[in-house]
Amino acid sequence: MINVLYATTAPAWADYETPLRRAFDAAGLQVHLSQDIAPEKVDYIVYSPKSALTDFTPYTNTKAVLNLWAGVEAIVGNTTLTQPLCRMVDHGLERGMVEWVAGHTLRHHLDIDYFLARQSGSWEPMVPPLAQDRPITILGLGELGRACAKALHQLGFPVTGWSRTEKQIDGITCLHGTEGLEQALSSAQILVLLLPLTEETTDLLDASRLAQLPKGATILNPGRGPLIVDEALIAALDSGQISRATLDVFRAEPLPAAHPFWAHPRVTVCPHIASETRASTASEVIAENIRRGEAGEDFLFRVDRARGY
Ligand code: NDP
Repeated sequence: MINVLYATTAPAWADYETPLRRAFDAAGLQVHLSQDIAPEKVDYIVYSPKSALTDFTPYTNTKAVLNLWAGVEAIVGNTTLTQPLCRMVDHGLERGMVEWVAGHTLRHHLDIDYFLARQSGSWEPMVPPLAQDRPITILGLGELGRACAKALHQLGFPVTGWSRTEKQIDGITCLHGTEGLEQALSSAQILVLLLPLTEETTDLLDASRLAQLPKGATILNPGRGPLIVDEALIAALDSGQISRATLDVFRAEPLPAAHPFWAHPRVTVCPHIASETRASTASEVIAENIRRGEAGEDFLFRVDRARGY
C-alpha cells in the first residue's frame, strides 16, 4: 500500500479526492489517500502553496512532494525540504493559459475597449491592423510560454520568445540570455510575461526595461506579480510609454483595495484566474509520477532547486 498525504486545504479535498482515487485506480496503484497520515509513514505528499505544512523534516520516508501548481516559488527555498519536488504541468493548465493569453491579446489587438466605450451612439470607425503587423514578445518559453507562442503564431502574429537557454521553435524568433532581452523587448507591441519567479526574474521589468519597449506597448502578466516593479509600471502607464496592462498576478494577493492598480483607467485586474490546475487532468499527472516513483523511474517535471524552477 502506498501512503499519499493530501496536505492542503486549497484546492479543496472535496474537489480532488474522487479524481485522485480514479487516477490511482487507472494507473493500477494501491493507494491509501488521506489528509491525515503519520509523517514517517507518508510515501508521497500532494501539496500546494496554500498548505499549512512548512516543516518537511518529519517526513523521513517521503519519496516526493508533488506540487499542484506550476509555480514553486513558495516552496523551492524551504530548507527542510530535502525530498524531490515536482511541479504541475497539466494539459488543462496549458489550454487555460493559451485561452487567457489569446483572449486578452485579441482584446488589445482589436481594441475591443474602444468599441465598448462607444455604445452610446458614437459611430467612429477605427480599423485595427492585421495580426501580421502586431509583433508580440513572450518572456518565458517553457511549457506555457511555448504553447502560447505557438497559438499566437497560428493567429498570424509575429512572435518573439525569450528564455534562459537557447531554443528553436518553428515560426518563433527565439532569443535568450541577458543579451537577448533588449532585442526581445524592443519589438514588443504586446508583451506577455510567463516567467517563473526566481531571484533572477524578480523586478525584471523595471523602469529601464519598460523604457526599452516600443512606446504605447501593452503588457499582459499572467506570470507572477514581482516580475514587474509596480511603481515603474504605473509611471510608464501615466507617461504613455505603456498604453495598457492586464494583470492576473500581484505582489500581494488578493490585491489590496488601496492599490493604485484597481483605480488606474488603463489597468485590468484579474484575480489570479488566468489558468487553474484542473483536478481531472492534474490527478493523472500525480498518479503517473507516483507510478514512476514506485517503478524506480525518473519523476516528471522535477524542479531544479538550484535554478529555482
Ligand atoms: P516552465 O518552467 O516550463 O518555463 C519557464 C520559462 O522561463 C523557461 O523557458 C525558462 O527558460 C524561462 N526562464 C526562467 N528563468 C529565466 C531567466 N532568468 N531568464 C530568461 N528566461 C528564464 O514554466 P511554465 O511555463 O510551466 O510556467 C511559467 C509560470 O507561469 C509559472 O512559474 C507560474 O509563475 C506562472 N503561472 C501562472 C498561472 C496563472 O494562473 N496566472 C498558472 C500557471 C502558471 P529555459 O527554458 O531556458 O529554462
